[in-house]
Amino acid sequence: MNYPLEDAYAILERITDGFFAVDNRWNFTYVNTAATRLLFRSREDLVGKNVWIEFPEAVNLPFYEQYNRTVKEQVPVSFDAYFPPLETWYDVRAYPSPNGLTVYFRDITKQKLEEHEKEQHYKSLFHQNPDAVFSFDLEGNYLSVNPAMEHLLGYREEEFLKQSFIPLVSKDDIERTLEHYKIAAQGTTQRYQTKVLHKNGHIVHVDVTNMPIIVNDKVVGVYGVAKDITPRKQAEDALQTKTQQLESLIENNVDAILIFNRQGQVTQANKAFEDLFGWTKQEVVGLGLYELPFIPTEIIGEVEAFESEVNKGNHIIGAETTRLRKDGLSLTVMLNISPIKDSSGNQDGWSVTIRDLTEWKKSQEILQNTEKLSVAGQLAAGIAHEIRNPITAIKGFVQLMRSGYGDREEYFKIMSSEIERIEQILSELLILAKPQVSKFEWIDLKVLLTQLITLLDTQAILNNVEIITEFPPGEIVVPCDENQLKQVFINYIKNAIEAMPAGGKLVIVVSQTNDEYVSVQFRDEGVGMPKEVLAKLGQPFYTTKEKGTGLGYMISKKIIENHFGEVRITSEVNKGTVVDVSLPLRNMQLVNQLNKV
Ligand code: ADP
Ligand code: MG
Repeated sequence: MNYPLEDAYAILERITDGFFAVDNRWNFTYVNTAATRLLFRSREDLVGKNVWIEFPEAVNLPFYEQYNRTVKEQVPVSFDAYFPPLETWYDVRAYPSPNGLTVYFRDITKQKLEEHEKEQHYKSLFHQNPDAVFSFDLEGNYLSVNPAMEHLLGYREEEFLKQSFIPLVSKDDIERTLEHYKIAAQGTTQRYQTKVLHKNGHIVHVDVTNMPIIVNDKVVGVYGVAKDITPRKQAEDALQTKTQQLESLIENNVDAILIFNRQGQVTQANKAFEDLFGWTKQEVVGLGLYELPFIPTEIIGEVEAFESEVNKGNHIIGAETTRLRKDGLSLTVMLNISPIKDSSGNQDGWSVTIRDLTEWKKSQEILQNTEKLSVAGQLAAGIAHEIRNPITAIKGFVQLMRSGYGDREEYFKIMSSEIERIEQILSELLILAKPQVSKFEWIDLKVLLTQLITLLDTQAILNNVEIITEFPPGEIVVPCDENQLKQVFINYIKNAIEAMPAGGKLVIVVSQTNDEYVSVQFRDEGVGMPKEVLAKLGQPFYTTKEKGTGLGYMISKKIIENHFGEVRITSEVNKGTVVDVSLPLRNMQLVNQLNKV
């Protein structure tokens, strides 16, 4: 179709693209209005002038090369190019014409800038990403890596590029990792965990996402994003180790252990539990506290009390109680119950350890019996020895009385004193066997001692011993068992007299040392005790005397301890001995016993 030239120009004037034509000497022959606007030049200014003289900057830009190609090769070209003097991007299409070249072009600066901005966004998504981001070609060689990737594995970007990822994967994970990579390369995104090697040799646990890079419907490579999960893995491993240790501790514990949840149901039972009670784990796990077959019905109250204690967060330690075995046998057991808290500190059930005390109880009883028997055995010898003399005497007098000789009244007196001696020995021994039923009262120590001294004075005088008392004024009242204290003081006074065969002074000093204690001292001038005697003092039957029992000191000490008091002995050979008894003035435990009477 042939248009008149004017018509053609009219069409060109209406189009919004810029249009110009040049002849074979590169001079403008036509410039449309849109082109004058786009190039900021008037038509008169350009027509007839040389393109490269009017726009010299274009010579070193794609424009020159592309236009020349169009003319030389007689082919249309299209390209985008930036023209710095006008700060403008152009989309250009050039067509060869019989006597030169025609060019259509339009301003695409705005689109270009948007594109560029987008690219920047993607770039920073890649560069600034805290996760390692990288891309591979289809052979698994790195095409790009971001700084986080460099940091993750310790290699620089250039060390990665064109290298395969395979040597960086931990050996035992290579096969699996390759498999995931292949599937991603076939178009399906993969997510998995694997181990990779840092440049310095240590293992890094990573969570990897591989996704296909698709260009024009074809997979051309694989993208990867890797997150370092090493700390999480380590924490998981540590937790797993801890859990395993705990499990083994529970399972292999010699004590039976039950774990209860918040709802009071058994969640765990160990092997020792099965062995001790005869039920299997399966039989008890899931049962509620009150459905458990091993609690005797009569002690449900105790179980309720324990439950409410432990639910308050308290521990129950060493509770002795009974539990039933599957075969019905009743066991004496010791329970330790501890609340279990979850990580936020809330009550999350409790654990119970159950120790069988049956055997322990038995052996404890045997031990106690053995001790009793041995003490009784020891005592038997003493009793025989001590009691034979007065009994022989009584027998003699009985015979004398039968034959009618002598003064019966006199015999009775002597006999009853011998019987008293037997009684005394027996009561001393009874104290040893078990503490006598004690009767505590408020007693004035000064009165008590004065009575004793009257009783013992004769014996003292016979032995050339003078008893001197140093008492403070006023009453000294203590809570005590009068008879037992008398026995103690008789012992010490007798020991003192016996320690002074050639006579001497026994000073008895009562003094109130402080608000809480009163001290009673027996100071003699006797033979004293060497170290080896002091060391043995208190052992039953240890005596240095021909007629001694060796029980007095031991029993006295025991009585004083029952009064919450103390005895201290200081002694020097050939100088004398001081026995210092201190007694509490108002020990609350004693005072309570007083009130009960
Ligand atoms: P016994 O008086 O029957 O020997 P004790 O238990 O009262 O039994 O005393 C044990 C021993 O301690 C005495 O045999 C004696 O050697 C020694 N002893 C006790 N009191 C004194 C004392 N005041 N002076 C010297 N020795 C003493
Ligand atoms: Mg004695």
